[in-house]
Amino acid sequence: MTHLRLILGDQLNPCHSWFQETQGDVIYLMMEIRQETDYVLHHAQKILAIFAGMRDFARGLTEAGHRVHYLCIDDPQNRQSLPGNLDHLMGALQVNRFEYQAPDEWRLDAQLAEYCAGQSRPWCKVDSEHFYSARDAAAQQFAGRKQWLMEHFYRHMRVTHQVLMDANNRPSGGQWNYDHDNRKRWPGTPFEPEDMRVRHDHSALWASIVAAGVGSFGQPNAERLAWPLNRAEALVQLDDFIEMALPHFGDFQDAMSSHAWRLFHSLLSFALNTKMLNPREVVGKAEAAYRAGLAPLAATEGFIRQILGWREYVRGVYWAQMPGYESLNALGHSQPLPSWFWDGKTRMRCLAHAIGSSLENAHAHHIQRLMVIGNFALLAGLDPQEVHRWYLGVYIDAFEWVELPNTLGMSQFADGGLLATKPYVSSAAYIDRMSDYCKGCHYDKKARLGERACPYNALYWDFFQRNKTQLEGNPRLSMVYRQLSIMDGGAVTALQERALTLRASLDSL
Ligand code: FAD
Repeated sequence: MTHLRLILGDQLNPCHSWFQETQGDVIYLMMEIRQETDYVLHHAQKILAIFAGMRDFARGLTEAGHRVHYLCIDDPQNRQSLPGNLDHLMGALQVNRFEYQAPDEWRLDAQLAEYCAGQSRPWCKVDSEHFYSARDAAAQQFAGRKQWLMEHFYRHMRVTHQVLMDANNRPSGGQWNYDHDNRKRWPGTPFEPEDMRVRHDHSALWASIVAAGVGSFGQPNAERLAWPLNRAEALVQLDDFIEMALPHFGDFQDAMSSHAWRLFHSLLSFALNTKMLNPREVVGKAEAAYRAGLAPLAATEGFIRQILGWREYVRGVYWAQMPGYESLNALGHSQPLPSWFWDGKTRMRCLAHAIGSSLENAHAHHIQRLMVIGNFALLAGLDPQEVHRWYLGVYIDAFEWVELPNTLGMSQFADGGLLATKPYVSSAAYIDRMSDYCKGCHYDKKARLGERACPYNALYWDFFQRNKTQLEGNPRLSMVYRQLSIMDGGAVTALQERALTLRASLDSL
């Protein structure tokens, strides 16, 4: 009589109720499988950190007295797929009941549901006990609405969970949102906090991943892997962030710098998305720092909005829109990714830094993802599905439930404006205002035309001209279309011609 409980690679939560007591008839199953390494080409650090985290988790369970069956990537018994391994182990371990935690990705949820439907043994899907809200929370709140505004969702979450609220049930400080205070350029001080993350040598694990034939891209950094691999390390990282970076998070949330890749961001997304940390404790510690006078309200609210607001909201959008959302392409974009998405070798300094950081660290912060890389992809008309697969592969924190709405919806406007009220695009002026990238760039940030003109400029005007039919009616874009309408016809044609040349030669920019 054996109960088999499956733990997926992003379910590394030792506080789950499953583990509160040890039971001799329960076996926990964890597996490193090609199905998961190969559904998209992943960054080397992502594969390494997930496998290393899984091994650490399995060790912890065993030390706590639980029975664990762990399949390594190079185990000859490993069938390399969920159903393949389950089929084999159900018999080999004489399983009479199967349980799993609700997966966050649609494809795994569907695969396990299908597997269980074909089983004669009893089975059960339990909650992952991680998120604030249910999968269908956004669908319920926005039923019948054309646009799903994050701000509405966020305010509802603040009230429901009593986060940053005063005694009269009003938002702390009287405002819901301090976004306007959170848009400063970083002048170089205060200094970026030291990167205190623990480093691990996982070169042996990396060698076995390579020997097993798993493909990847980006720097493995296997001798000094810097991502937290268990809850204890993640908690230390959380405390360091609250103490050293949170007080400045708000001011420089949207800033970018070629001298600092992390700035005042938390780097907690990997620990959160693998469930080493619970969003409640992260939000709780940030709020406690504000109440103790250790962090300003604007910074605390800005940080909490990302987790209590954006993170829960995009998950709700994902579950409401899947399947189908992954293939949306409202603007009909089809350009392939330029080659420098894979090596960072472009003369555009902002992209060289943002993509370079992504390849080196498996991370880029939000504004680099949205207003440098995503902005370029949208202006240049890159195929949103290719863009989605690149984002899903490259970032340490990329799991489809959070990556897809951010990439396809927020960044590429491929859902036609369900998630974003207007396309997130800009010319060079925005990038110059928020960063030091334009100084020393091969291209001229001010010029629109000519060989050395910054490509963002002509692409920006061409984007709006090209998509006029779909976008002109959007009230948030009335200013752009007014500007276009008073532009000399010849100037618009010249910009379109320059954009055409750029789009035909993306690889050489
Ligand atoms: P911080 O800036 O310190 O923010 C704190 C936390 O808030 C993050 O750890 C994260 O959990 C949460 N958060 C912030 N912004 C968002 C958001 N827009 N959606 C959901 N959660 C958010 N985030 C992912 O976790 N996985 C992804 O695959 C992912 N893909 C993205 C793709 C694009 C095109 C864009 C524009 C954003 C994407 N994000 C993604 C959101 C955000 O960029 C990352 O969460 C953030 O950069 C992670 O770094 P951090 O932990 O230092 O975040």
